[in-house]
Amino acid sequence: MTVMVRPQALADFTVREFKMLIDGQWTNGAEGRVLERSSPAHGQVVSRYQAATATDAHRAIAAARRAFDDGPWPRLKGAERAALINKAADLMEGRADELARLDTLESGKPISQAKGEIAGAVDIWRYAAALARDLHGESYNTLGDGTLGVVLREPIGVVSIITPWNFPFLIVSQKLPFALAAGCTAVVKPSELTSASTLVLGEILMDAGLPPGVVNILVGTGAEVGAPMTLHADVDMISFTGSTLVGKLTMTNAAQTLKKVSLELGGKNPQIVFPDANLDEFIDAAVFGGFFNAGECCNAGSRLILHRSIADEVVSRISEVAKAVRTGDPLDPATQVGAIITPQHLAKIEKYLAEASGDGATLALGGGALDLGLGQFMSPTILSNVRPEMAVAREEVFGPVLSVLTFETLEEATTIANSIDYGLSAGVWSANMDNCLTIGRRVRAGTVWMNTFMDGAPELPFGGYRQSGLGRELGRHAVEDYAETKTLNIHIGPRTGWWMPR
Ligand code: NAD
Repeated sequence: MTVMVRPQALADFTVREFKMLIDGQWTNGAEGRVLERSSPAHGQVVSRYQAATATDAHRAIAAARRAFDDGPWPRLKGAERAALINKAADLMEGRADELARLDTLESGKPISQAKGEIAGAVDIWRYAAALARDLHGESYNTLGDGTLGVVLREPIGVVSIITPWNFPFLIVSQKLPFALAAGCTAVVKPSELTSASTLVLGEILMDAGLPPGVVNILVGTGAEVGAPMTLHADVDMISFTGSTLVGKLTMTNAAQTLKKVSLELGGKNPQIVFPDANLDEFIDAAVFGGFFNAGECCNAGSRLILHRSIADEVVSRISEVAKAVRTGDPLDPATQVGAIITPQHLAKIEKYLAEASGDGATLALGGGALDLGLGQFMSPTILSNVRPEMAVAREEVFGPVLSVLTFETLEEATTIANSIDYGLSAGVWSANMDNCLTIGRRVRAGTVWMNTFMDGAPELPFGGYRQSGLGRELGRHAVEDYAETKTLNIHIGPRTGWWMPR
């Protein structure tokens, strides 16, 4: 039985009203339409936005273009850009509780977790500020007396930044500060379900003194606003995080004008466990990897690949711990699993479960929606006897659902891990470092955790193999991703003639 925390109705609540940010001005949309967002945990409207359209997207892109072509931002010293990014980080820290509460109300994630995400985001902004001072090219003094080669790194230009709903403030913070550090300008579109914290970020950037047009923020649907942001000829690069399906569409749109794309997409991440692993540590990581953010996480460790000799014991121990996970009101500081983003998404998760049962999987724990009086919730769920070919073993369920598979040999574990289209991250657990390193090298994934899961730091690059994405975020090359390379080929002394010998 899940430990349930019943949500309380939001009493004396004031709905937050937002405009969109274009060229340094908070404005209404061209059509004056309004989008509303309800808390998935409380069922009450919590935010109201001006809905942008393609006309607004084109206005925002024009502002970003002007700010890039004629404005001061790309021409500032790295140190000046760093100072502004650091100032923004300080202001974010000052508004951390407000930002966390907005993310919790719109996404349904637990407030204690949301506070951790804002603190993590502030740390990323500070890391990006440090990198702003270190973007540099190279020189070649080895090309003979007559030539000096200088390789410049220049900001790429106008960047369209499109983000999903599951980590609203954290994901924009994995993109925007690095684009700004490089000297780019941006049009940002958060998910229409969770736009509030990104709009407050706009307020913070204006307060920090960012010149008009450098960052523009629009709220709207993918079809109405996202698509024009990926098609417009004045956009030089797209940085997209979201589903693999929309990622592919984004790449197709970008191809029309050959824009650079950076894609952070879906995952179906394995945790491979050998019999000599520290099972106490693993059980905790399995519960965390499966149920953190209600499993609505690209990095969720949703595929447990357990050595056959320990599978039964591990499943029963994970089930015991998972029963103690507190699920419900995300505003309660003790809650660990919050609400599911929309009723439609909950129905999609339940469909996966029904299909898996029909295919022969066994429900070891949970298995459906939890009625807590308000909002939509789901109990932590474990499916055993899952086979590699089943949809729950191959596709993103994006809910609090662990699928358990088994293996006999390291080779078999690797084959199962690599048998799907995704390759975002993986975990391996063994006291034997040979097992960890062999799996670490053979698994096709952008991050492999060894005897831990879902840790991270701004210094460590993050991104996916195969259909989990293209490019890497974070790490010391993150600013370079937003830069073009230009060669200055400089001649010294008299040239040797080509047409007429001198
Ligand atoms: P989504 O693809 O539906 O939407 C992502 C963003 O794209 C939203 O802002 C949406 O409005 C916009 N969009 C939708 N259609 C568009 C279009 N035609 N053109 C341009 N933009 C469009 O994804 P989601 O449901 O918001 O998020 C969940 C997905 O994100 C999952 O697949 C998850 O794995 C992935 N994700 C990946 C990472 C990562 O770092 N790899 C991180 C978080 C989430």
